[in-house]
Amino acid sequence: MRYISTRGDAPELAFEDVLLAGLAADGGLYTPVAYPRLEREAIAALAGLPFAQASANIIAPFVGEAFSGSALGELTRGAYAGFRHAAVAPLTQIDDNLFVLELFHGPTLAFKDVAMQLLGRMMNEALARRGLRATIVGATSGDTGAAAIEAFRGLDRVDVFILYPHERVSNVQRRQMTTIADDNIHTIALTGSFDDAQAILKALFRDQRFREEVGLAGVNSINWARVVAQTVYYFTSAVALGGPLRAASFAVPTGNFGDILAGFVAKRMGLPIDRLLIATNANDILARVLASGAYELRAVTPTLSPSMDIQISSNFERLLFDMLGRDPAQIRALMGSLDQSRRFSLAPETLAAIRAEFDACSSNDEETTAEIVRTFRASGYVLDPHGATGVRAARRRLAEDPATPVVALATAHPAKFPDAIEAAIGRRPPLPEHLAPILEARERFSVLDNDVATVAAFIRARARAARGTA
Ligand SMILES: *Cc1c(COP(=O)(O)O)cnc(C)c1O
Repeated sequence: MRYISTRGDAPELAFEDVLLAGLAADGGLYTPVAYPRLEREAIAALAGLPFAQASANIIAPFVGEAFSGSALGELTRGAYAGFRHAAVAPLTQIDDNLFVLELFHGPTLAFKDVAMQLLGRMMNEALARRGLRATIVGATSGDTGAAAIEAFRGLDRVDVFILYPHERVSNVQRRQMTTIADDNIHTIALTGSFDDAQAILKALFRDQRFREEVGLAGVNSINWARVVAQTVYYFTSAVALGGPLRAASFAVPTGNFGDILAGFVAKRMGLPIDRLLIATNANDILARVLASGAYELRAVTPTLSPSMDIQISSNFERLLFDMLGRDPAQIRALMGSLDQSRRFSLAPETLAAIRAEFDACSSNDEETTAEIVRTFRASGYVLDPHGATGVRAARRRLAEDPATPVVALATAHPAKFPDAIEAAIGRRPPLPEHLAPILEARERFSVLDNDVATVAAFIRARARAARGTA
């Protein structure tokens, strides 16, 4: 499988290079030249397979020669062995035709572990093969950082620098990043928003000299390998509910559009998906673009679901690329407009094409809390605030179409957001035992100004790749 950039000005690459590159050199996102198809029989044959095996089967056509079948199986087994639920991504029914897909059984209690645990293993192997070191720089709205740190801590070939918005992540989220003692982990509290952190990350990736100097690699949700790893649970849950003979819809708490894009990719690969429901919080740029066709940046509002406190949904570019007939010139024009005037408009036919497959539902904090209460009263199930936005979107869809099952993705464990849960239902979800030590451990992080040069200098001074010790 070969990969091309959505902006058309970066070299075509193989999977292993895309894995290590993250963002394309032209500022675009890598995407496969064509989506592989899984025949109906192949989808049906996923029924009952262990998650790791299903994962290897689904991912195989994307990796091509980078990892042979048995090597891939070994990587996926290793990635999911550390999950604290034997099914890895279990489904729970909470209402008629409404199912919660629990994606939070990994080491950091958020869905990002599903992809990151595999990405870490793939990257380490690719670097070892090439005798290289890499510097990973990531921007996080809370959960990516912890998931990346867990996936890469202690690895000899990789230094990790994580930028998070200072004082805008939850106590548990911050401590999951700042209490890790491994020398190769560096946590940076940026005096700005998540979008500022993401803008710095993008600027570093555009700086060719810096990229080469530190062997820059990206693990944010723009890394194609993460999207691919996330397609797996769409397949496993749809098959558990009767797929491929019966279609399901999916409700996805959305920020950077990586998770729901994986659903779109699964659909393009042949999985019968009815609707893809974008759930947002008060930061509702995606709901607004679906309503009006105008993608318009506004200030970020802090909410109960901080991992979705995002305005620029980077992976939306991949959807647009497909919806615009894979024409990089049109993507360059839209993204140029976004840089210059903080907005772009979609043509009516593009908007119609998106609406044919997607709906959007935004929930403010009050509505999110009400959903946590409603679901708890109705079924005793405790949702986290992110998952609650998805369940609310799912209920709305079921009111229109009660016959098609809806899978709502539960992207975080409620114990990550104990204050919001306690405010809603009057009880604090206990932190799983294996995480208790982080509440006491010493924290280590650096507060840096919201400035590219400052961050670049900090990384240069600490990355082992920059010192030529590879
Ligand atoms: C990252 C995250 C999201 C948003 O996922 P995207 O792929 O960025 O859309 C939703 N919920 C939680 C808990 C997350 O950590």
